[in-house]
Formats: sequence, structure tokens, C-alpha cells
Amino acid sequence: MDIGLYIHVPFCRTRCHFCAFYLRIHREDQARMYLESLAREIQLSAALHSLGGRRLDSVYIGGGTPTTLRPDQLCSILDLARNYLGVLEGAEVTLEAHPDSVTLEGLRRLACAGFNRISFGVQSLDDGELVRIGRRTPSESARVAVALARTAGFVNINLDLMYGLPGQTPESWLSTLEQAIALEPTHLSCYALTIEDGTRLQVDIRRGEPVEPNAALQNAMEDDAVRRLAKAGFERYEISNFSRAGYACRHNLHYWRGEDYLGLGPSAQSYLNGCRFGNVEDLEAYHRALEAGRAPVAERAYLSPEQCRREAVVFGLRLIEGINVAALRSGAESGELLHEWDRTLHRLRDQGLVEERTGWISLTDLGRRFADSVAVELM
Ligand code: SF4
Repeated sequence: MDIGLYIHVPFCRTRCHFCAFYLRIHREDQARMYLESLAREIQLSAALHSLGGRRLDSVYIGGGTPTTLRPDQLCSILDLARNYLGVLEGAEVTLEAHPDSVTLEGLRRLACAGFNRISFGVQSLDDGELVRIGRRTPSESARVAVALARTAGFVNINLDLMYGLPGQTPESWLSTLEQAIALEPTHLSCYALTIEDGTRLQVDIRRGEPVEPNAALQNAMEDDAVRRLAKAGFERYEISNFSRAGYACRHNLHYWRGEDYLGLGPSAQSYLNGCRFGNVEDLEAYHRALEAGRAPVAERAYLSPEQCRREAVVFGLRLIEGINVAALRSGAESGELLHEWDRTLHRLRDQGLVEERTGWISLTDLGRRFADSVAVELM
């Protein structure tokens, strides 16, 4: 089976109030150093990792904001991946972009170089909500960016949206959904806002500001999205992801199906040949390791068959198709474990949280509300 490649670009122009990703505010000199180190890491990875003849069927450049880099810099990353790691003809090649950091000329260049999917971090199409989460540009920039991408030749366009934002109402969320649908993307990701440690929103909450998401309201907003997007012809294929037929994100399916992927760049995670490993979350340590000719890996764990089975449960249950029972049972290390697992499954089925169809277990609508706790029970 072929594998996915993720490349983390750790730069943004500013930090949004909800964001806890590893990143730095963009500086040209730091970007140049990052590109040099990344080139070293790509070459080192080609020498170190046995891809066993497999090639990349998806490349995903994310961040951060990859489009803080110039189009020629982004094209050079893709060229290196092609030259050293081998990208399949017809691979899905995604670029994450901030709507205000693209131009028609730049997008044309990226499309010509082989980027064939673009994912815009839109979050909301309500200007007041954008201000409250620290986004620096109005909603109009998303409309302009989508039009430019389409003119440049991008057909496969994703929009990331968030619900449960400070000050967001069911009406304003529905309005964002309607406006997003009108932009005719092939894919929509709808995430519930969560308050992460160290973010500006967490500080605001501690100060007593009323920005904490309301769980009941978020559930209602999720239901609104599922209903409205189904009506507009989008298939929900993962808890937070909806696509037109044939446009499910191939790269993210690698994660949810427990398939191999290689992650490069500071803080990027990999899963390769039964080993999970993660890079250092520190740009300077990343440079130092690569200058010394070492992989910038901070942690590494070889998973036992039982750990692989547990992970398959956690990730696979996020997919609407669910998890294959036979594959899962074959990973169990003992009959006693299997027996215990069957009992748990029966109980969850009786509670209406999971259902079993032709050898696949999936969450029910009710179960999707409690996806994490159901996964923990089945682990
Ligand atoms: S643009 Fe994206 S990665 Fe950058 S701070 Fe905002 S949410 Fe985080």
C-alpha cells in the first residue's frame, strides 16, 4: 500500500486566539533556514526510511500557514519530495492556505507545479466572529481566495469551518454554512471549537469573559451542519468531514485507516512500518539535528499488535464506515481480551451507541456525540 507525506510549515503571520499548533510568526530569514533544514530532512528520510518500494499517493503541506512561504519556495518543497521520495502520478497534493495570503499569479504557479487540492482555513464567514477569534482579514477575503483558486485551475477546494465560536449563534452558523455552500467547494471540514491550553481564548475565559463554547449549542450546530450539508449533496464520511462524491481527502484517510504516513518538519508525526515517531517541537533543535546529519526525532515507539488494534479503534471509529470487525479481532492478543471486548460491544449496542452491519462496527448518531468515550471503552 502506498503512503502519505505530511510536511509541517511552522509559520503564520499572526496567531489566532484558539490556536495551539507549534508555529512561529513568519520571518524571511527563518523561512530560508527552515527550507534548508527541510531539504536536508527530505534527503535524510529517503536514505533512512525503508518505504519498501512504496511511493507517495498523497502529499499534504500544512501548518501553520504554508502560504506564508512564496510559491517558488512551496514548489521547491514539492520538487524535493518528488525527486527523493517518489510521488505517484495522480497523487493528491494538498496545500493549506490562509485566504489573505494567495494571489492569482501565485496560485497559477502552484497549480502548474502539481498542487491539485487547496484547503482554505476560513473558520467563519461572519466578520464579527472572525475578529473575536483573532483573524486579521474579513470574510470577503475567503470569497476572493476561492474565486482566485478556481480561476487558477483548482477544482478540489476544501474550506475549514468552526462552530461554537465566541458570540456565534445558530443563525450566524447557518449563514456561514449557506455562504460556504454557495462557494461550491468539493469538501468541507466542520470542527467544534475546543479551548486548548496556552491559547488566548483560555486566558480570556480565566479572566471571566464569556467565550467558552456551550456544549448543547455546539451539538445543535453540529446537527444543523449534518442536515444542511446532506441537503446540499455532501456526504459525511468522517465525524467532522464532508465531501462531494469522489472528493474525500485521501491523505487524511491514511490517518483514520491506520495506514502509513511520513511527517517532516518541526513537530510533524509519522507512522511507518509499525513505528510511531514525532519530530522535535522546536525550530532551533530541528536545525541543530539536521546540521549534524541526524533525524530531528524527539520520540519513537514501536507499537505491539495490541497497541495497533487500540489505535485502529480510536481512529477508525471516526469514519462513518467504521471499523472492520475481522481485522480488529485478528489483532487481539488473547481469547480473554476478545471475550471482554465482545461483552463491551454488546453493551454499547444495547445502549444505542454503536451498530454492526456486514462485519463493520460504526458509531450511531448518538454514539458520535460520545465518540471519544466509546472508543476508550472499546480499546
Ligand atoms: S492561521 Fe491556522 S495555524 Fe496559523 S494561527 Fe491561525 S489557526 Fe493557527
